[in-house]
Amino acid sequence: MPYEAVIGLEIHVQIKTRTKMFSAAPYQYGAAPNTLTDAVVLGLPGTLPVLNYAAIEKCAKLGLMLGCEIAEVCKWDRKNYFYPDSPKNYQLTQNEEPLCIGGKVEIELPGPSRNVEGDHRWVTLNRIHLEEDPGKLTHEAFETVIDFNRAGAPLAEIVTEPDMSSSTEAVAFLNCLRNMIVYAGISDCDMEKGQFRCDANVSLRPVGTNKLGTRTEMKNLNSISNVKAAIEYEIDRQTEVLKKGGSITQETRRWDVESSSSFPLRSKEEAHDYRYFPDPDLMPVQMDRSRIKELEAELPEPPLDKQRRYQESFKLPFTLTSVLCVNRELCEFFEEALQTHQAPRQIANYISNDLLRELSAASDSGDCALDVGQCKLTPSHIATLVKIIDEGIISKQIGKEVFNEMFVTGEMPDAIVEKKGLKQSNDIDEIEALCREAIAGNAKAVAQYKEGNVKALNALKGPVMKATRGQANPAMLDGLLKKMIDEG
Ligand code: ADP
Ligand code: MG
Repeated sequence: MPYEAVIGLEIHVQIKTRTKMFSAAPYQYGAAPNTLTDAVVLGLPGTLPVLNYAAIEKCAKLGLMLGCEIAEVCKWDRKNYFYPDSPKNYQLTQNEEPLCIGGKVEIELPGPSRNVEGDHRWVTLNRIHLEEDPGKLTHEAFETVIDFNRAGAPLAEIVTEPDMSSSTEAVAFLNCLRNMIVYAGISDCDMEKGQFRCDANVSLRPVGTNKLGTRTEMKNLNSISNVKAAIEYEIDRQTEVLKKGGSITQETRRWDVESSSSFPLRSKEEAHDYRYFPDPDLMPVQMDRSRIKELEAELPEPPLDKQRRYQESFKLPFTLTSVLCVNRELCEFFEEALQTHQAPRQIANYISNDLLRELSAASDSGDCALDVGQCKLTPSHIATLVKIIDEGIISKQIGKEVFNEMFVTGEMPDAIVEKKGLKQSNDIDEIEALCREAIAGNAKAVAQYKEGNVKALNALKGPVMKATRGQANPAMLDGLLKKMIDEG
């Protein structure tokens, strides 16, 4: 009997706020252990939580962006458990009345090759609720150390419906979701810093049936490639068990990166194990409708909408939009450059090829930590460069040289051209003289061209370009050579 996989994901996103969910203790990644705590975070007796409204607003914004309904009222529950990462012995979360209900995320599946756009579909969400992050435990050979810096950081948990059927869909979902969240400035979603964490639920069912099978939940998936590997491993494992006539145990499993396999961690706890009850210290939160309208107005254009717009109104190919549209700063850079010079295709080309290449080379060599905002180039550098190429002041080839120079120095391209004397030569007499020399010096190429081999012309263009330091107008050179050979 053939089986199909059913996958549901739970994603924890650390919301970017200055202070924690229920206290004024600051939160940022990378501080010395246990320096970002206070009495509330440590759960000392007699302390009371104070709600961080910025976290509520950012989570509501997240929900609006993902098409959720924002609750009229949301409230706080205690999820009770006894574990060293939670000194209060409970986690504040939203069990019964979450902030965001439903929702959906558009995903783009990979195409048949990197250069071809894949299909799009929507993945349905169940809810998004807010909670506080627990502390971080690090298990070493003979001891476990704990850092409470992370404890109390605002965490949004996004829960999907069991609505995906392959690791490919899950990966596409995570990438699209992450892009949207980063776009909206809700979180940086750096998985290595634990800002974006995913648990994957997997079950199988016979193809053609609707009833959900028993699922397992994989934890500790701290990169998208681990999510992919863990889902694939689990589909194979469950298939083997079912084929042999066995049954799946509902359990939580831990993904082990080293052995690329997962192990049972514990049998799945039921909601009643947590003895959820409303937190008596925190009031329910009434969501202000007019404020929600304002938040909605602040939402950025979603990346996939932007991609469609760039393809339609700027006629950019997918190969360029797929590079540009995953990065909001690049898109802003691009659109600003268009204000100076309306040449979308060429500008997009320079940004997604030359600029990104130099940025990554510069950050690899450690010269400077780089993203677009930090490099010396402004949108007007690139727009001006494309403009002087379009106006025939310099050739495309010289354009590359000017680009590299301005990337390093930050000088404007027209200034570089002036300083280095790089203007394209339209001096027909000079070029004609050089062509004559080239024709005389390479009878073989001339003969080949006459036999119909157009590429043989390149052997004649080479010396002319060399003599003019690449500045001969390429169109003029091409025309002159052909004319001179044809006319003998
Ligand atoms: P819990 O509260 O125990 O974590 P939920 O019902 O909230 O359980 O589901 C958690 C996640 O598991 C959701 O993303 C959901 O889509 C997914 N899920 C639930 N049942 C299944 C199933 N049978 N197969 C695959 N995923 C499932
Ligand atoms: Mg859950």
